[in-house]
Amino acid sequence: MVKIAHLALAELTRVECPNFETAQANAGSFLEEWNAVQEHDFECPIQIYAGHIFDSEAATFLPHRVLTVSEASGLIIDVQAYDPLEIEANTAKLFVNSNVIDLRSQTVLPGFVDAHVHLFLHPYSETSWEDQLTKESLAERTIRATVHAKRTLLAGFTTVRDLGTEGAGDADIALRKMLSGPSPLIPGPRYFCANRAIVSTGSYGPKGSLVLNKEGIDGITGAEVTDGVEGCRQAVRRQIGAGADWIKVFLHHYRIRSRVAPTSFVTARTSMSTFSLEEIKVMVDTAHRAGVKVAVHTQDKETINTILTSPELEGFRVDSLEHGINFEQPHDADRRRWDVAPASSAKPVIWVPTLSAFYTSGRYEGGPWASLVNAFRAALRDGFEDIACGGDTGVFAHGDNALELCLMVALGASPVQVLRWATFGGGLRCRYIATSGDLQKYFNSAVHKKNIIL
Ligand SMILES: [Zn+2]
Repeated sequence: MVKIAHLALAELTRVECPNFETAQANAGSFLEEWNAVQEHDFECPIQIYAGHIFDSEAATFLPHRVLTVSEASGLIIDVQAYDPLEIEANTAKLFVNSNVIDLRSQTVLPGFVDAHVHLFLHPYSETSWEDQLTKESLAERTIRATVHAKRTLLAGFTTVRDLGTEGAGDADIALRKMLSGPSPLIPGPRYFCANRAIVSTGSYGPKGSLVLNKEGIDGITGAEVTDGVEGCRQAVRRQIGAGADWIKVFLHHYRIRSRVAPTSFVTARTSMSTFSLEEIKVMVDTAHRAGVKVAVHTQDKETINTILTSPELEGFRVDSLEHGINFEQPHDADRRRWDVAPASSAKPVIWVPTLSAFYTSGRYEGGPWASLVNAFRAALRDGFEDIACGGDTGVFAHGDNALELCLMVALGASPVQVLRWATFGGGLRCRYIATSGDLQKYFNSAVHKKNIIL
């Protein structure tokens, strides 16, 4: 695709430079004219003839559509119906043009969004989380992240939100620069990142085994550790200052009492609330004042209820809720939204259930997978729509991001509904992808990376 766009641009530069001579003759306005010519060059759009397109806003498939895409911005600037017989009759003439692409046998759709990834992690089945943080250097983890970025893109996921480097410091900000901007160095998705994420003292890891009353191992912590209103305010400001697009807060975690495991396994594995209402409020407020959104990791019903409905958090609602596994009645069915307090109900809180992480890391009766399945099915039953697809990818292999979509369909969501969540629902518009598979009959194989064409 890059090659095609490049050829089109080169051709246009050669053929259409009507102002070039004038510009040369007048050195004073040369730059101005040259810039005008350059801008003119970028007006060469790419046309894609699609067998079908998926309209994520209307959640429907439309046959025989031609998309016009701006070569300069990648934005779709027009969608029109075409007559398939007319195009068939003119195939030889039409598709010889390098900026006209024939995808008439395929379904074109917006690129998928994975709203919850960790590009600096690789599957725990290969190396445990603790070992990745304490035995893999920052250089190794960064090199892995570049490979993960490419795999993600080639699986059709053109946008991701990375919710924490998990001990790899600020490396996501530099990775974003290498993936995006005017001169990207390596292939990968559009990358939104949450820098280090924020945890309260004692609640996260890795935890050493010799000096127990200490955060992290060898100076490595899984996220930035802070407490108190001022500490929380500063942590958010530090991460925004570092370049974060999102602030991620762990509001609930099971590692708080993990050290009681030798005497009470159940307590050690029980998730508990971490930050106080005042701390949550100041983090949300500080982030929102800077135009940065807030994602919260949380699991239990009580914490979810608190952050969504507590009067003290009126005006300080978070933007997305990650996991949410123990919440069985997540919303007001009439409004098809989380049951958030009235003043903030206009702005939806997006739920990212991360089914894949729990599916791939152990499924047993009474465990988190079972609770999450209940929560997800309850949401389907009540027509809840504010969902984004995000697998917590990294816990399992990058490139297998579509597992989240397949699990949603397997649990009863319709393919069209899931495609909407995976594109429009992610809230982050992106580039198109195409699949040669049948999205309505054979959903799993159609969204699998082997059938994705970028
Ligand atoms: Zn995560």
